[in-house]
Amino acid sequence: MEKNTARSAVMLSVVVPCYNELDGVAELHRRVTDTCLEQGSSYEIVLVIDGATDGTREAIFQLAEKDDHVVAIDLARNYGHQIALSAGLEFCRGQRILILDADLQDPPELLGAMMTKMNEGFDVVYGQRQSRDGESWFKLASASMFYRLLRRMVDVEIAANSGDFRLMSRRALDHLNAMPERYRFIRGMVSWIGLKQVAFPYERHRRFAGTTHYPLKKMVLLAVDAMTSFSIAPLRFASLLGMLFGLLGLVVLCYTLIEWSVGNVLPGWTSLAAIVLILGSVQLMVLGIFGEYLGRMYMETKRRPLYFVNEIVSRSRAVSDKDL
Ligand code: UDP
Ligand code: MG
Repeated sequence: MEKNTARSAVMLSVVVPCYNELDGVAELHRRVTDTCLEQGSSYEIVLVIDGATDGTREAIFQLAEKDDHVVAIDLARNYGHQIALSAGLEFCRGQRILILDADLQDPPELLGAMMTKMNEGFDVVYGQRQSRDGESWFKLASASMFYRLLRRMVDVEIAANSGDFRLMSRRALDHLNAMPERYRFIRGMVSWIGLKQVAFPYERHRRFAGTTHYPLKKMVLLAVDAMTSFSIAPLRFASLLGMLFGLLGLVVLCYTLIEWSVGNVLPGWTSLAAIVLILGSVQLMVLGIFGEYLGRMYMETKRRPLYFVNEIVSRSRAVSDKDL
């Protein structure tokens, strides 16, 4: 991927990771284009195709062939939302960068107001959801619980109810792009950078078309990524648990000794089995926590590239072999 700092040719890049979003891309393109035109400065729309299987690829290629402003990056397979987004962020070359979802849950029309906010001297203007239309109570409850837990564990301030929808300065993006890690929780990484950041409250809409690509399993994985990449609190929790059970054992031992000294031999304990089971499970759980970190270290040490690109379609950009 090319490095863009030296020749940031456009004022604004809108970066959108797209999985299977066939029913939404035309509308997305229309609304983003309208918004960018309103701004009156040069712009590009970077659409990253994340191994789509429903014709999204062809639809986006068509857009890129018709519209000079569209850059279509087709990844070699489905790498997941955060990696697809990283690919777009690395490739875009705007002075300011807007991150958007393809499903139009975050209205692109807010760009103007976000730009105004950024003019006050902020490097990051991040969207903060006031309401989330059309999302199940389960998603709302689990998201709120997740953010509460994360805030307790993590040293950096990660705003609750903020997704990846945000406007960033080139300076902030260059910092983000300089972080090579594989397990990417981008909203957290952006907070971690520092600089001047400000929340931008907005109403989140329901999906324009299709259904969420974040089922429970992916949500849990994202949550585990977030926790392990920003905190070693779970490891500390493991030692804490060890100490706690050690103390408990000591108390039980004292009790038995005292009873024995007054002549009470305690009868064969069924509870013994329970204790062994509990201890066994606690040990396995702690091993599991270690494993999460160890596995991530293993994956990181391979130092594989984050993604590969299959094809780039753009009328305005010369694409070299280096990009692929
Ligand atoms: N997405 C992606 N790769 C994936 C899953 C999702 O690029 O493997 C994109 C998707 O097209 C959308 C964004 O990531 O633009 C957010 O996904 P989604 O709307 O399904 O998540 P939710 O808003 O429900 O959290
Ligand atoms: Mg969505």
